[in-house]
This record gives sequence, structure tokens and C-alpha cells, in this order.
Amino acid sequence: MDKAKVGILGATGMIGQTYIKLLENHPWFEVSYVAASPRSSGMRYSEAVEGRWHMQTGIPAKVGQLTVEDANIVDKAFGRCNFVFSALELEKQAIKDLENRYAENDIPVVSNSSAHRWTEDVPMLIPEINFNHLNMITIQKKNHGWKKGFVVVKPNCSIQSYLLPIYALEKQEFQVSRILVTTLQALSGAGYPGPSSFDMVDNVLPHIGGEEEKSEKEPLKILGRIENNKFVNYESMKISAHCNRVPVLDGHTACVSIEFNGRKPSKEQIIHTWREFNSLPQELKLPFAPEQPIIYRDEEDRPQPRIDRDNEKGMAVTVGRLRECNVLDFRFVGLSHNTIRGAAGGGILNAELLKAKGFL
Ligand code: NAP
Repeated sequence: MDKAKVGILGATGMIGQTYIKLLENHPWFEVSYVAASPRSSGMRYSEAVEGRWHMQTGIPAKVGQLTVEDANIVDKAFGRCNFVFSALELEKQAIKDLENRYAENDIPVVSNSSAHRWTEDVPMLIPEINFNHLNMITIQKKNHGWKKGFVVVKPNCSIQSYLLPIYALEKQEFQVSRILVTTLQALSGAGYPGPSSFDMVDNVLPHIGGEEEKSEKEPLKILGRIENNKFVNYESMKISAHCNRVPVLDGHTACVSIEFNGRKPSKEQIIHTWREFNSLPQELKLPFAPEQPIIYRDEEDRPQPRIDRDNEKGMAVTVGRLRECNVLDFRFVGLSHNTIRGAAGGGILNAELLKAKGFL
């Protein structure tokens, strides 16, 4: 099969670089176009990221030779890529407008930005959970009169560490009604250079702008349904979140307490449910789908970011410390890699699902 040609908007940033690293040798996709701010445009990619390439492997040779274009000039992408991953850091309205312009020019957009997450006809995807939200793409295209282009987004990087384990329980009809979650979020989640070392060494920042609202609300759209061509949020769940920035490089941890409504599982049933969980990406054997999406660790001191974030190439959620809660029913700790499952890897899995379902 010929590989699809892929563009990356925001290719020089933390997430853009992660896309470039993860897409090296991808069986379906090949990076053929890179774009960033006017500051980087006109440079060779290897020059544009000189002194700020943060990946532990080198720049793939072919990508290093590409000329960086200005992501704001959509025409530059014509004929050079079949679709784009968007990993831009810009003002929200500017990202929305720009992503729409790519879509109206027949270039589908798989976005990491929060800009379009609450746009009425834009699916916010975690492929194991709400793959049926892809049905909204036809409606979105019709709403805008777009022929080939469309926009899909992925959710905030902090929520996969608890939403996937909770969804696995919901799928077995153990309805989770209340969630208290405290996240311990890695530095890379803030992009480069992120908070200064003076703020982070020997410290925890108890506030990340906008993050608690995203952590509380985005799951409700993802678990929601499509009715009369619109998303209707899931209403049977309430979430309260504390989000903290901690001095960890990669990997967002979540300490979670949950309460069930109605049928309440035993501890053994919960662990069994997590270990047995799989979904459409696993059935379709998508290249980035983790064979085991939820890994449960029995040791009392796991999961830990440094040890567990790279499980299943950074695409699995690792869970541990399941025990009874004195206030709600159960508590556990979840962990997922924020720049892989929570950003570029999650975006690639979205694109693989779109390709497998004939949208790309
Ligand atoms: P970043 O490291 O700050 O990179 C930002 C990118 O945007 C760079 O390529 C930059 O290009 C480009 N850019 C900045 N201003 C621009 C402009 N005026 N026009 C066009 N391009 C411009 O940010 P990041 O951490 O990679 O995050 C990228 C996006 O992913 C954000 O929307 C973020 O919210 C989202 N996200 C991040 C994470 C995470 O874990 N980091 C997780 C989920 C989602 P130059 O290099 O030329 O300035």
C-alpha cells in the first residue's frame, strides 16, 4: 500500500517533534510537509529545531531536509500532503479559523489543540471509547459544505489516565456516577521551555490554567451520544478535579476515587474488567493500538511515571493501587504518557482509525 502523505502544523514544537519521531517508519503514513510559525519558515527542518530537538532519537534524515513552511499559509500545503496533524500553539480563535481553512481546502485536520473541542459538530476522539462519534464527520462536512476536509480533535492529555479505566467499567454496566481526581502532570505537558526550573525544582504548582475545567467536562462529551445531528453530553457522571504540575518530565499521573450508581463491582471484578478490556482499535489491529490498553500492576508502589509511562510504546494506561475508599467506593492510581497517548500517539491512533474507516 502507498503511504499517505502527512503534514505537521507546529512541527517544531514539543508535540510536533513527537509526531515526527513516532511517524518514522510508520507503515501507513509518511511525513512529507512541515509547517510552523513565520519565525521558522524558510529554514530546513534540522536548522529550525537546532538546539531545541527534545527527542532521544535523532531527527529522521528525510524530515531534516524538508523546508519548514508558514502554517498560516494554507496554499503551501496543496498537493504536498493528504491530511495534517495540527499541534499549533496559538490563540484559540486563530487555531479554529486556521484548521477550518485547511478543512475547507480539502485537507482533513487531526488536531491536538483544545480550540475545536467544544465545536458542536467536531468529534473529540479516544478511539477505544467513542469511535461511533466518527458519524459526526458526514454531518460536519454537510454543515460547512466541505467536500474532503473535516476536523477531528483529541482531548486534553490528562484525562486518558482515568477515563479509559472508568469507561471500561461503564462498558460492563458498572455505572460510575461520581469521580474525585487529583492529577500530577508532567513538565512536557506545558510545551518547551515550560515553567522555569526555579518554579519547579523542590516544588509543586497547584494550578494549571484551564486544566481542571477540561478534566471535568471533556469526559462528558466523549461519553456522550449523537442526537438530532448534535452531541449530547453524558449527564450521569460528576467529576471534581485538582490539577498540579510536578517535576516529572513525561507521564501524567491521576489519583482517583470513584462512586458507583446501582451495580457495584468487587475489587476482583474491576481488575478483571481492566485486564480484559479491548475495543475497536485492537480488533482492527491499528498499528498504534496497544495490545493491552489498560495494564493493571499488583505491586503497591506502581504505577510510577519513570517505570510505566512507556508501556506498550507509551500508548497503554497503567493502573494500580485499587483499594476501597473511605468516602466513595474505590480508589486507584492511573498513569499515561502525556506526549504519546495524551498527544501525538493519540493523534496518530485517531488518524489510523479514520483511515481504516475510509475517511482519509
Ligand atoms: P510548543 O512546544 O510551544 O510548540 C508550538 C508550535 O506552534 C511550534 O511549532 C511553533 O512554531 C508553532 N507556532 C507558534 N506560534 C505560531 C504562529 N503564530 N503561527 C504558526 N505556528 C506557530 O507547544 P506543544 O506543547 O507542542 O503543544 C502544541 C499543541 O498541542 C498545543 O495546542 C497544546 O495545547 C497541545 N497539546 C500539548 C500536549 C503536551 O503534552 N505538550 C498535550 C496535548 C495537547 P515555532 O517553533 O516556529 O515558534
